[in-house]
Amino acid sequence: MLTSKLSAAAVSSSSSTLFLRSNFAKKINSIVNPSLCNSVRPIVGWSCSNKSSTRRKMDSSASSRVVSPRASAQQLQDPDQLIDSVETFIFDCDGVIWKGDKLIDGVPETLDMLRSKGKRLVFVTNNSTKSRKQYGKKFESLGLDVSEEEIFASSFAAAAYLKSIDFPKDKKVYVVGEEGIQIELELAGFQYIGGPVDGEKKIELKPGFLMEHDEEVGAVVVGFDRYFNYYKIQYATLCIRENPGCLFIATNRDAVTHLTDAQEWAGGGSMVGAVRGSTQREPLVVGKPSTFMMDYLANEFNISKSQICMVGDRLDTDILFGQNGGCKTLLVLSGVTSLPMLQNPENAIQPDFYTNKISDFLSLKAATV
Ligand SMILES: [Mg+2]
Repeated sequence: MLTSKLSAAAVSSSSSTLFLRSNFAKKINSIVNPSLCNSVRPIVGWSCSNKSSTRRKMDSSASSRVVSPRASAQQLQDPDQLIDSVETFIFDCDGVIWKGDKLIDGVPETLDMLRSKGKRLVFVTNNSTKSRKQYGKKFESLGLDVSEEEIFASSFAAAAYLKSIDFPKDKKVYVVGEEGIQIELELAGFQYIGGPVDGEKKIELKPGFLMEHDEEVGAVVVGFDRYFNYYKIQYATLCIRENPGCLFIATNRDAVTHLTDAQEWAGGGSMVGAVRGSTQREPLVVGKPSTFMMDYLANEFNISKSQICMVGDRLDTDILFGQNGGCKTLLVLSGVTSLPMLQNPENAIQPDFYTNKISDFLSLKAATV
């Protein structure tokens, strides 16, 4: 049910508490010390306000959970044991299911095998440039039978978060990001302004120039944005600093992304960092490794998190996301993390298991028959 009632513990600088005055902002039930925040820790703690006893309580302790060194990850030897121990697999997409526009070997057969065993499959991505429906088309174009309801992109998470706090429909959302966020906001019934169209706007400074902004903006959502510019930074800053109660929501804080396979490119964290710098506010993060999406999924499907295995190719987002949620974790080496990176003594994030690619679920089984 999309209208699951979640509530958030906002991470905010002390100055921002001045803005938490409106009705919807009152739903934010605690302020967490921003000094706890960094790129590899969850920066938002969530608790469940749903009184229904049939729904599982959400884990509100994630915000204060500190990643402690774990035993080194084990190489996956017995996939059946892992498969039998959980009811749901959450897959990251890029580097796990596909690389760019190319499907990774053996993925369709592996997903079919897991479905035949009755496992629930969910696909989660921090990429906010597409909506769930657009992601559905990407799966389809790669020959994968995945429904929209099984896809959780951070664009959807931003809209789901606003719904969870009963963000007023007469308020507006200012979007720093691409089409995916706009589509999801529209589907959820929220009014928005900004987005790619503001990428064409320029500021011409003249003496005494004052930039106007819409005082009805009650939230700014910042995601990856190839049309990012100074106009958007200033507009977002004015909304967050001057509109009482205005929320600052980030789809993710990824330092880098992989627009091409030739190099790493500045990720969504660079846009979020610019607005954080000018507002001195910490964002509410709805994507990985924050536990919002995990809590949402567990609540939505009524799944115990101990019955979930998170499969991903990144340690500081995917594996941390799984660990913050209390799930089992499997790192695949088919994406951005290599075995030397995993085994580097400075790396404190150790998944439960690692393997080369998800089709090892099949080949390892065949090897043990
Ligand atoms: Mg990935």
